Amino acid sequence: MNPPDASVATPAATPRIIPRSEHAISRSRISPNALRVLNRLRDGGFMAFLVGGSVRDLLLGLEPKDFDVVTDALPEEVKRLFRNCRLVGRRFRLAHVFFGRDIIEVATFRATSAPSQGDEPLPEADPEDGEVPELDEPQLEIEPAAPPARSPSRSASRAGIGPEPGGRADLMFDASGRILRDNIYGTIDEDVWRRDFTANALYYNIADFSVWDYVDGAQDIAARTLKLIGDPETRFREDPVRMLRAARFEAKLGFQLDPATARPIGPLRDLLAGVPPARLFDETLKLFLSGHGARSFEALRRRGLLAALLPTVEAYFNSHPASLVEKLLLQGLKNTDARVLADKPVSPTFLFALLLYGPIAGIIESTPPERWHDPATILDACDQATREAQTRLAIPKRFSLGVREMFALQPRLEHVRGRRALRILEHPRFRAGYDLLLLRAEHGLAPRDMAQWWTRLQEVSVEERGRMADALAQEGGAPRVARRRGRRRRRGPRTPTPA
Ligand code: ATP
Ligand code: MG
Repeated sequence: MNPPDASVATPAATPRIIPRSEHAISRSRISPNALRVLNRLRDGGFMAFLVGGSVRDLLLGLEPKDFDVVTDALPEEVKRLFRNCRLVGRRFRLAHVFFGRDIIEVATFRATSAPSQGDEPLPEADPEDGEVPELDEPQLEIEPAAPPARSPSRSASRAGIGPEPGGRADLMFDASGRILRDNIYGTIDEDVWRRDFTANALYYNIADFSVWDYVDGAQDIAARTLKLIGDPETRFREDPVRMLRAARFEAKLGFQLDPATARPIGPLRDLLAGVPPARLFDETLKLFLSGHGARSFEALRRRGLLAALLPTVEAYFNSHPASLVEKLLLQGLKNTDARVLADKPVSPTFLFALLLYGPIAGIIESTPPERWHDPATILDACDQATREAQTRLAIPKRFSLGVREMFALQPRLEHVRGRRALRILEHPRFRAGYDLLLLRAEHGLAPRDMAQWWTRLQEVSVEERGRMADALAQEGGAPRVARRRGRRRRRGPRTPTPA
């Protein structure tokens, strides 16, 4: 544990209240639905704040991704205020207020005694709608009712906003003592402790439009510093995903990690191996599909976290320094970022094809060269690379099968034999496979003229396509490309099956 020092951000007993005249958050930048929720809570006599990333982003002049609300109203009280409200969450009950497809999440202030496995509510978990589903997460090894070690001894009462006696704790166990719900409701100054970074712990008060700051978060935002609240090692141990969040916010916001926050990341990174793979998969999507994927990749590598998240990817790049594959990955991530910024759809399948390209290439390279272009070799390599990645990330099958299809298309796109090849245009993965071919060609990993051929093919009429395919067949399947060794195609039914 780090000795207490000046760089440990300890929440103050009372907040610094930054009045409206001294901060830049205007209601015109807050989503009308979030404002509706905040106003109705306030009118119902409750405290209501915006919290987390939305306050941070508004202070930075960025457009928030979502607006999270916290209140002293209990979930059931929130539900009574809104017709369009549903309570969700297995361990932590939250209210979701629906406005068409927009959802505003409303959380009750929490004094969590349980080390959090993360704050996202788990989906399909409304106990009112049926049975509480099985938990797929590791057991919490804590005494659920114990007071929080770090909490300033319920100092809320001192601040005059203490909890009502009774009714604030809502614990539920299954027969084996496993915690199903551990809503230990608290007060705003206890709630601060469960936030990760100081920049994420600012509260915008709808009552007078002020910002409440217990942790000098406003100052850290101005200095573009990312600092964990409390002792960094303890906070990372409580929830190792915070290490990935540090890298993500570094990438997304361009903030510097405070040295005391950065220090434990290297030594503690292997704790990520104990995080449920489904959660790591979700975090991976947030890292790479939110518009800052290329910078996330660099931040993960710099912090040594790629080795914990995708060990085989890290291993490939270590054994192939400055490889074309790494350039391809970075370029693919930049292209994905550009698509996100242009509001175009992006797909986890394409992302995993990029991330696993190195491991797949490495496995192919380990076979005799005459088999490198054999479709069965390629499929085997996809399956093995996916299996290895699955030890950390739960990649849903539809995405891993998509990766397989994209790679299986590559030799078919590189070697066109007659008009039959045109059928690939109808293949559901054609577009993704073609995009991968373009990237490979750009990096000298596939014949450039074949990539151009497919580009042109899509621009011309159906008749012209036929003529192009005939012409190519006469040239022998691949224009001006040196014949490679081992192009024998085995069409046999050898289908590798993932274990
Ligand atoms: P963004 O939405 O831009 O990705 P965010 O900061 O809003 O960033 P969310 O995952 O939406 O991140 O979480 C909302 C808030 O909940 C955070 O700002 C933080 O205060 C808290 N939080 C989320 N995850 C954790 C965690 N693992 N540990 C501690 N606090 C967390
Ligand atoms: Mg958010």
